[in-house]
Order: sequence, then structure tokens, then C-alpha cells
Amino acid sequence: MRIDEILQRKRTLSFEVFPPKKSATETEPLCRAIDALAELAPDFISVTYGASGSNARDSASIAGYVKSVGVEPLAHITGGPSTPADIDRMAENLRAKGVENVLALRGDRPQDATIAYCKHFLHATDLMNYLSEYDFTLGAACYPEGHPECDTLYDDLVSLWRKQESGARFLITQMFFDNSYYYRLVNEARKIGVTVPIIPAIMPLISAKNIKNIKSMCGSTIPLEFRNMIEIYASDPVVMREIGLNYAAYQIIDLIAKGAPGIHLYIMNRADTATALYGRLENVFHEFFRN
Ligand code: FAD
Repeated sequence: MRIDEILQRKRTLSFEVFPPKKSATETEPLCRAIDALAELAPDFISVTYGASGSNARDSASIAGYVKSVGVEPLAHITGGPSTPADIDRMAENLRAKGVENVLALRGDRPQDATIAYCKHFLHATDLMNYLSEYDFTLGAACYPEGHPECDTLYDDLVSLWRKQESGARFLITQMFFDNSYYYRLVNEARKIGVTVPIIPAIMPLISAKNIKNIKSMCGSTIPLEFRNMIEIYASDPVVMREIGLNYAAYQIIDLIAKGAPGIHLYIMNRADTATALYGRLENVFHEFFRN
């Protein structure tokens, strides 16, 4: 099923998973996690694609596994590390597995500047234009606080508009911890003609060690109140988990109350995180995601 068609009919609940680095030994636990996620009846599960492109085959086979358990997969593809032949191989592999939805991305530039990057696909839009010969429904990424490489939010909004013009039928945000950035993005994007659904993505921050990586990984701001809670309880993993789940639940309720088109959860392959959040919000979710 095409994600844009689902979005026309209802609001979506979705999760992101990533292929394990040591695929042979770790694929099994990920498949069990996907089985558990499927129990929550999500509208789709997205499967990431390594920035170096090295895990393309794992990414396609995990997307195929998602499909086999009756959930719609959204396969990520990054153009930065890829040649046209790599993209053809991946696209054909995905089509053979019945995957209909692709999140088209550039990928993060490697820190080592000597590694060739973006030789064939400079931006996500170049990949989207290339993929137009395949019959995928395309989505793209967006950044509530602006992409870190952009000087102004406006420049990044123009990139967003270009993504829509290149065929993006929906957008999924970078993680954010202050919903006002999401509302600002939606307001400003609508002003310049971006009309496609913008799905907010939330990451439950259940461990203090994740927090150190957030700023360097994606530049998302952690509000002072939340940061204070984390700093006080950082050494207590049980309390940290409670705080992270409750904070994510608070963000989700606010987004739902204000009419977001769906909720995407970055769960770091932890089905237990998704299940715990679902349990906290069961009635809210039932009301929000019903057909
Ligand atoms: P682009 O759209 O190319 O944007 C990169 C920068 O260039 C931005 O500053 C943008 O404003 C600017 N820009 C875009 N188009 C133009 C243009 N035509 N002219 C001038 N400037 C332009 N990374 C992975 O490696 N694998 C994944 O699976 C993955 N999944 C992700 C999923 C989501 C929902 C998100 C939000 C991010 C994901 N990322 C992933 C990270 C993403 O690849 C990085 O954020 C990357 O730095 C930018 O990707 P992009 O597709 O937004 O790139």
C-alpha cells in the first residue's frame, strides 16, 4: 500500500528500524523486534540505509521482512555514497520484494573529506529525479530546526519545496524535543507552497548516553527543563527510562491534539520502547489512529 494513499485516509503510526552492523548475528533479534512491532499494527515501518551504502542488501532484506509480516515497509535510500548502478540494483531488489515506498535521502557526508561523496547524486532531489523511472511512492526528510548545513531556515524551506517538486508525497522530520520547532516548520512550509503531509518524528530518550550523541548527530535542541531532569537522574537507568517515555508521551499527546498527520517513532530497534509508549497512550492512539 502506498503511504500517500494511507495518509489521505487516516493518520499514521510508524516506526524506524536500522539494519544491524554485524548482520549475520544480529538480524534475528531485529526480526523478532519487527514481529513485536507488527503486533501494534503500525501503518508502516521504515528501514534505514547506511550513509556509506554498505548495508544496502541488509536494508532491502529487512524491508522485505517487514512486508512479509504484513506491515508496509518504507525503505530509505541514500544517494550520497551511490552510483546510478547501485541505485538501480537497490531499486530492482526492493521492487522484487514488493516494496512500494522509498524515503529518498542524500545521507550524511563522511567526516573524512577524502572519501568520495555525492559524485552522482548531489542532493536528495537528484536521487528523487533518478528514481522517478521506478514506480515508488517517494518521501523525503525535513528538519524542524533547519538542516545543519543551511545558513537560514528559509534556505532549507526552499530545499523542502524542491523535494516536493521532485516528487516527495510526504515528509518525515528529524527528531525534535521541542514541538514548537515542528509547528514553526509546518507554518513556514505551508506559506511557501509545501502542501504534502509533514509527519513529526519523536525519539524517546530513555538512556542518558543517547543524549550526548544528539547534538552531534542531528543538532536537535534539548529544552532546559528536560535537560535538567536528565542530568539529575542520568545515573539511574530505571528512572531515566520513565522520564524518556513520559516526555515522549507528552510530546505525542500535544502533536495529536494539534492535528499532526501521523507519528513516526525513532525506537532504536527497541520494540519494548514502542510497546511501553503504546501502553501509556493506548486510548489516545485508539482515538487518533482509527480508520
Ligand atoms: P538534501 O536534501 O540533499 O539536503 C542537504 C542540504 O543541502 C540541506 O542543507 C539542504 O537545504 C541543501 N539542499 C538540498 N537541495 C538543495 C539544492 N538543490 N541546492 C542547494 N542546496 C540544497 N541518513 C542516512 O545515512 N541513512 C538514512 O537512512 C537516513 N534516514 C533519515 C531519515 C530521516 C527522517 C531524516 C530526517 C534523516 C535521515 N538521514 C539518514 C540523515 C540525512 O541523510 C542527513 O540529514 C543528510 O545530511 C541530509 O539528507 P537530505 O536527504 O535532507 O539531503
